[in-house]
Amino acid sequence: MRADGTSSLRDWLRSDLSASEVPWLAASVTTLFQSGPPGSRITVAVVGDGFGPQDQDAYNTAVDTLLTNGLFAQDFFEANKAAFNIVRVNLVSLESGVGTKTYGTDGNLIRQDDRDTALGAYYNGDWAHLWIEDGPSTAGRLASALSELVPEHQLKLVVLNNPGRGGRGGNWRATVPLGIGWPTLAHEFGHAMGRLGDEYHDRDETYGDTEPTVPNLTTNTDRATLKWGRSVRAETLVPTGGDDYTPPKPSGWDDSQDVGLFEGGGGSYRFGVYRPVVNCRMRKNNPEFCPVCAKAMTEVVAPYLANAPLIGVGSGDTTAALSEGDGTGYVRLVVRLEQGVLRVLEARELDGPFVETGLVTQGFAHEVRIGDRRVALGSLPDAGVSRGFSEIGTDGPREHVVHRPDAFDFVVRVASAELRGADLSELTVDLVSVGAGRGDALGEVPLREDPALDVTPIASLADLSVADLPMSLRRIVEPE
Ligand SMILES: [Zn+2]
Repeated sequence: MRADGTSSLRDWLRSDLSASEVPWLAASVTTLFQSGPPGSRITVAVVGDGFGPQDQDAYNTAVDTLLTNGLFAQDFFEANKAAFNIVRVNLVSLESGVGTKTYGTDGNLIRQDDRDTALGAYYNGDWAHLWIEDGPSTAGRLASALSELVPEHQLKLVVLNNPGRGGRGGNWRATVPLGIGWPTLAHEFGHAMGRLGDEYHDRDETYGDTEPTVPNLTTNTDRATLKWGRSVRAETLVPTGGDDYTPPKPSGWDDSQDVGLFEGGGGSYRFGVYRPVVNCRMRKNNPEFCPVCAKAMTEVVAPYLANAPLIGVGSGDTTAALSEGDGTGYVRLVVRLEQGVLRVLEARELDGPFVETGLVTQGFAHEVRIGDRRVALGSLPDAGVSRGFSEIGTDGPREHVVHRPDAFDFVVRVASAELRGADLSELTVDLVSVGAGRGDALGEVPLREDPALDVTPIASLADLSVADLPMSLRRIVEPE
């Protein structure tokens, strides 16, 4: 109950969820670090699977090694830590270790060992099968756990109690076993957050396609129009080399930070496509992001940094905005695309302030409008993709295996005030694919009609009536 005596949506949902049976022995939430109000930062929720009562210390240590003392203690992520909150969820599984699947050389499943764990995920350790796979109830259990425990989460990291390596990611979720280090995760977050391309090639193919839309690959060898041309010093030759600088390499040249034009990249292509540096995190995991990749990543996190303007805060006083029921909150909608149809699965009202980046990059993007007004807009990097982590071992890199699920969910955040009492017949949700160009300065026309972007409409939700909506959203739009 709120102080004024009205029941908030959150109270209602919480009591609803806690009544259901859960497949874990216990659950707890620990904030590892909080840089700002939850909705105004990229909140990473870390969840363990296959960690029994006796394994909780090992899980906590693994999360520290991978994230707090790993990823967020290093270069880009350390420098931009203020854009993130990290929340660790301890789900205590009945059994220790996750289930495993073993595939034969023909790709057929030859052995399966099940474990009764919180999320029921499997480790298969097979590059061609994306290393890891969900069980039939994994996605649903993960969604309901996080909906209840960390409703503001944006990025999900699932850690499996299995010593193997590899990993799988896409659509704001990464799943990893215990055998990987933070550099692998950093490379994958480069794909997922920054929409970066791979700067390695594991084959000798020649690229024959159009200009890549990713910021760190190009077919253009003209210095004057090169997309990262301003980062190339005048004395640097263009093109600059292939797998290494074409000798003689200038003294003091830094292979990951000095920018030129190096042939080879995109996972498979030795020829015909170029990358910015000799060796970047998007080539070999361990180096830092090159300046071109770092710039793309910085654009993504910039709106979340502390001094960025916060939506829903009139005076800029974030403390005032944190009190419940002051009208600065937001509604978090989970929307599912399935067989070309959009459906609102869940709505939840959360405290503000929140940041809506409004950045539209290549890939899927969403827009919510009420009549002529845009009320939400954003990119969905890696939506509809599940990517096996690339294997970068002693034999060199091995490309990602990509799986495109038939259905995927995405999150839309709208200021509560925009939705409350809105005329539902005026509400539209558009999911589009943006082919090229960046929408940093978008016009007021609907995204699907924007002439500056190469937009393909994917699905729309329109002409809604109250009956089309989940009860949770009806209660927001039509409060008693
Ligand atoms: Zn790079």
